[in-house]
Amino acid sequence: MAKKKLSLATLLIVIALLIVFRFVEDIDYDLPPNHRFRVTKVIDGDTFVLNGGDKVRLLAIDTPEKGEKYYQEAKELLKKHTDDAVVTLVYANKRRDKYGRLLAYVYVENTFVNKIILEKGLGYLYLFKDSDSDHPKTKELLEAQLTAINAKVGLWSLQYSPEEFYINKTGSFRLHRPGCNSAQKLVPGRYQKFDNRLDGFKIGLSPCRNCKP
Ligand SMILES: [Zn+2]
Repeated sequence: MAKKKLSLATLLIVIALLIVFRFVEDIDYDLPPNHRFRVTKVIDGDTFVLNGGDKVRLLAIDTPEKGEKYYQEAKELLKKHTDDAVVTLVYANKRRDKYGRLLAYVYVENTFVNKIILEKGLGYLYLFKDSDSDHPKTKELLEAQLTAINAKVGLWSLQYSPEEFYINKTGSFRLHRPGCNSAQKLVPGRYQKFDNRLDGFKIGLSPCRNCKP
């Protein structure tokens, strides 16, 4: 009887170890640059969850938040391409953000999902002043955004009351309305002005999340 109990305990320990190792495998920081996972849940237009629990934030794009126009469409599009699918994650220079989410260019077979979202106008190209902004894929993503701007689809079909001008500070990728807090105290030679908001987005800037130009 004692022996039977012991072997049951051993079996449970082995199972527990297998589960732990499986989890460790999925969150290993030193995975090869290209890695395949299954998506278990889509959270919004630019975030999903992998088997193993890791969250992935699609790199270099930003889709509408809940309550904003095209939120649902962006989420549905990401769902259509990735839900329960095996995805390949391609990392840039920074593997995780401050929330611990994996940052990745996402592929399903040969479909570049980040690009599809921009092409349909369901998200903005969203860059940061870091080494990822120089990534070769940035050009491909900007081209997708230009396609959407020219076709006036999704977010690019929305009407905005025009400002007299728009501001971008040197070294930042955000475009601001002139009244935005982040567009004050301008240093000569350290900012650029745009007459038309689209001119800023066409060179890869994205709307400030506060003033939403
Ligand atoms: Zn702003």
